[in-house]
Amino acid sequence: MTIPSVKIPLADPAAQFRALREEMLAAAERVLASGRYSLGPEVEAFEEEWARRCHATHSVGVGSGTDALHLALLAAGVGPGDEVITVPFTFVATAAAILYTGARPVFVDVEPDSLTMDAGKLEAAITERTRAVVPVHLYGHVADMDPIVEIARRRGLRVIEDAAQAHGALYQGRPAGSLGDAACFSFYPGKNLGACGEAGAVVTSDSGIADTVRALRDWGQQGERYEHAVPGFNSRMDNLQAALLRVKLRHLDRWTEQRRRNAALMSEKLEGAPVRTPVAAPWAYHVYHVYAVRSASRDQIRSALAAAGIQSAVHYPLPIHLQPAYRSLGYGPGSFPVAEQAAREVLSLPIAPEISPSQIERVAETVRAALETNGGAHA
Ligand SMILES: *Cc1c(COP(=O)(O)O)cnc(C)c1O
Repeated sequence: MTIPSVKIPLADPAAQFRALREEMLAAAERVLASGRYSLGPEVEAFEEEWARRCHATHSVGVGSGTDALHLALLAAGVGPGDEVITVPFTFVATAAAILYTGARPVFVDVEPDSLTMDAGKLEAAITERTRAVVPVHLYGHVADMDPIVEIARRRGLRVIEDAAQAHGALYQGRPAGSLGDAACFSFYPGKNLGACGEAGAVVTSDSGIADTVRALRDWGQQGERYEHAVPGFNSRMDNLQAALLRVKLRHLDRWTEQRRRNAALMSEKLEGAPVRTPVAAPWAYHVYHVYAVRSASRDQIRSALAAAGIQSAVHYPLPIHLQPAYRSLGYGPGSFPVAEQAAREVLSLPIAPEISPSQIERVAETVRAALETNGGAHA
């Protein structure tokens, strides 16, 4: 058996370095020579730039997107005995962060087109223990925030956006990061805005939340050093990562446009093929962190792509409520049928900014050919 080399990757963070080599090396050198490595002036500058970019007052740099969720939930007052409502069709970190606070994740199903929280199912999941709602802007497509926020306000709940996949995404023209009480971003290398290591941020216009996250990320210190108001954590953003993120931030809009162009071309080239291509809801400016098609013949498409050296992935093959680690929550198969069906059908195709139109065409042709050899099995 031969394993073909990857010719078209899903993501290529090293390509960004090749394109921005001089700027990134200069930024790294500046930080290395400064001796300021943990927090520091680059972190402060990035926080200001990122907050402005998200139309929010504050951004607090932390160690990862997971930490951003954990600390934002704590700052919103979530703790043991509480329930936090989110979706089962997301990366596992969303639910893990809720568990870290001592609260219990409660799931509502996603809606079949955007695969984000079904706002129509939210109210029925609220109990007297519910404290917060965490909609996930999956794949770079914002959740339908107006009805979610309206229900949350009426029922006295906090709204924390999981915006880890949604840098620059818009809801009715307003950016992810400005749509709830706080928003959590990840700058993991493969994200639309990625560091060269781990990093994350909590974005908010609530100064109470911002102050608390600032204290929590640095051992609960608020004013005086070695004075600890609360136990806190070690989750400071690296000055080096902030400097590199500032370089990349200047290119985010261009990369997003390239992603959107690649996604549009892919959908055009797949027109008429028996796969369901992603569509953005009228409220969404989709930033295509992931371009996922849906097909009952997903695995067959996947092997054809692999044989052609085209990378693909399944985000995500098992919804969280069916993961062994979350079985004790008491959900079973059939609890969230839309999420479960999506998990069986989704397949992420390469649309990264660096991928050329001819490569997109090759991916689409390979998908089509895989489905034709199938004797016409349909999505
Ligand atoms: C990546 C991601 C996270 C976690 O971010 P890390 O920086 O990897 O900790 C959380 N939620 C979603 C939806 C993600 O995609």
